[in-house]
Amino acid sequence: MTLKLEGKTAIVTGGSGGLGSAFSLALAGAGANVGVAFIGNPAPAQDLVAQIQALGVKSSALEADITDPAAVKAMFARADTELGIVDILVNNAGIDGVRARAWEVDAAKWRKTLEVNLFGAFHCAQEALSRMVIKKSGVVINISSVHEVIPWGGYSAYTASKAGLGMLTKTLAQEAAEFGVRVLALAPGAIQTPINQSVWSDPNGLTDLNKKIPMGRMGQPVEIGNVLVNLASDDSSYLTGTTVFVDGGMTLYADFSHGG
Ligand code: BGC
Repeated sequence: MTLKLEGKTAIVTGGSGGLGSAFSLALAGAGANVGVAFIGNPAPAQDLVAQIQALGVKSSALEADITDPAAVKAMFARADTELGIVDILVNNAGIDGVRARAWEVDAAKWRKTLEVNLFGAFHCAQEALSRMVIKKSGVVINISSVHEVIPWGGYSAYTASKAGLGMLTKTLAQEAAEFGVRVLALAPGAIQTPINQSVWSDPNGLTDLNKKIPMGRMGQPVEIGNVLVNLASDDSSYLTGTTVFVDGGMTLYADFSHGG
């Protein structure tokens, strides 16, 4: 049996985090070499790299501050030699940011969310696309959110960054299509990871959250990882420039299931 991503090289930013580790493992399970990009404590990335190598593919822990274009450039150069030229970029690194209404939020913190979620993705896309257009193949997958379209009080920087990622995806897809390169956004709903632990670890918070989801439950990281592999593979060869929502129906306005 040939694996869907055999011989491909993937880079996953935030690659050892909640969703990121599921993405890294899913890509490796499909046969790809995986660069696990991280910032800060190297231990989770190093542990994951060992797990991935045990699957029989190449893997490296790649430290980089994605808000710094020079650091991103150096990271891609390192991946070129250690893993091969990137075929699949997963722009997954992201932060929710602090919860505060727009007129109360610290502007530096607002900016930081945009820098990580939107500028970070852009810097990595620049490096990846400049390689992919030369080899005339490749896929960039931006990890967006249901908050690309659902407003979220207290998180104006987050929603703005994800809406921005949606349009960045479309425009990059338009630019890259003639070079045989696809650009997509994958928008998860509420997936059970450390990013939203304060909500799901509180029974009242979880009940409230589940009411916002027609399927009535949070998603698990593996349920997003499986979709990611399909989007990255030739199974999705005609899919570009769109956002794929994987959210248990969260974008369907659950309140409108009845009445109205
Ligand atoms: C956020 C989570 C949140 C989910 C649904 C995601 O984009 O990162 O914290 O639970 O959206 O609101």
